[in-house]
Amino acid sequence: MSDSKPKTMGQQLGRRSWAEPWKIKMVEPIRLKSKSDRQRALEEAGFNTFLLRSEDVYIDLLTDSGTSAMSDRQWSGMMLGDEAYAGSRNFFRLEHAIREFYGYEHVVPTHQGRGAEHLISQALISPGQYIPGNMYFTTTRLHQELAGGTFVDVIVDEAHDPASDFPFKGNVDLRKLEALIHEVGSEKIPYVSLAGTVNMAGGQPISMENVRSVRELCDRYDIRVYLDATRMAENCFIIQEREAGYSQTPIAQILKEFCGYTAGAWMSAKKDSLVNIGGWLAVNDADVFDQVRNMVVIYEGLHTYGGLAGRDMEALAIGVEESVDDDHIRTRVNQVRYLGNLLVAWDVPIVRPVGGHAVFLDAKRFFPHIPQDDFPAQTLAAELYLDSGVRSMERGIASAGRDSETGENRHPKLELTRLTIPRRVYTQAHMDVVAETVKSVFDNRDSFRGLEMVYEPKYLRFFQAKFKRI
Ligand SMILES: *Cc1c(COP(=O)(O)O)cnc(C)c1O
Repeated sequence: MSDSKPKTMGQQLGRRSWAEPWKIKMVEPIRLKSKSDRQRALEEAGFNTFLLRSEDVYIDLLTDSGTSAMSDRQWSGMMLGDEAYAGSRNFFRLEHAIREFYGYEHVVPTHQGRGAEHLISQALISPGQYIPGNMYFTTTRLHQELAGGTFVDVIVDEAHDPASDFPFKGNVDLRKLEALIHEVGSEKIPYVSLAGTVNMAGGQPISMENVRSVRELCDRYDIRVYLDATRMAENCFIIQEREAGYSQTPIAQILKEFCGYTAGAWMSAKKDSLVNIGGWLAVNDADVFDQVRNMVVIYEGLHTYGGLAGRDMEALAIGVEESVDDDHIRTRVNQVRYLGNLLVAWDVPIVRPVGGHAVFLDAKRFFPHIPQDDFPAQTLAAELYLDSGVRSMERGIASAGRDSETGENRHPKLELTRLTIPRRVYTQAHMDVVAETVKSVFDNRDSFRGLEMVYEPKYLRFFQAKFKRI
């Protein structure tokens, strides 16, 4: 037997390869700009990948938000838009899809996820209250704070350790949650804010057993549980794979069971649901629905369109159904792992286990010589772009922002650079190019210094901050 024969990745891993359950019908050209063009673009963007022009990017892994490819079914749905101001047919299709796949009774569409976060936060949170959650998300926490609440992280300790192989790093630590309830009193906690595929922890899942226990605990104290369902389908795939008793259960059924432990959910449909824009808030309690349905007309639009066109709601209704297809979700998560496994094989430090939607580079171990105050993860994102036009995103000290009381920089344990994979957009060859880019920066890691922030916006600073090289 000859060892020199090329091997497919499947053969290297000792198994048969998988392939995407779709074929490509339309293409969008992309181009790698020259090194000097990239250098100029990066300087103009203040070393912030959010400020680059998309045209200057070769492979765009900034986010999986709104960047998915819609199916031919979804595009044909766009032609079936009922653009009536009130009572559009597409709204009822969307409502039906959410009831069928997520199981919630009352549905309010919103322009995207943060619109829904705004409504639920304003409806349920009073000033001085506390909202426990399994790690913060940027927009979620900000809306909770703007409503006068304080977010309290009750995620398991393993979530803060990028090297821990714990299978459910998105789980709530029940002791932390109960300690908070005892400390502040259950009447000070309007709800528990759960999230699937916890983004800031590296795309880590929460188990069915954990949500069941959270619900039991909250029932004892009469506290409601609400869910950020943005990447719940991906979370359900990992439950199917790792949690005892679910290996034969379809994703759709796992999703419905999981949501059944919660009183409602908000959703950025730009992620799991395979659309370019859209979101929703869905609840079971009629009184909460009454409040949010009333508020949506102030901030988003009438309660049967919430800032979306009829055609967007149609594409979203179809996307909800496609997002829970077992073949779709398996290849989606496996593509992320393909990239992660290449990097692990080359000893690049990443968050383990590889998450559902992205590979997170551990910038603290990647650049051990760059102090956190010099933005190692931001530096890494900038250098990856410069190397070969690959766009990623900082998830570290810049994203964490400042403490709302002291005004000091927060120093999160995790200092990460996220390579986020859009759904159904890139091929395995693109993943190879990305992996080689990371390897090239990693091989030269000692030559990089950090960055200094020269412009800092007040809210969600990571989006618009500017930096310069130290
Ligand atoms: C993207 C996202 C949001 C916010 O949704 P937008 O559609 O970007 O407004 C909320 N929660 C999570 C977990 C997200 O990833």
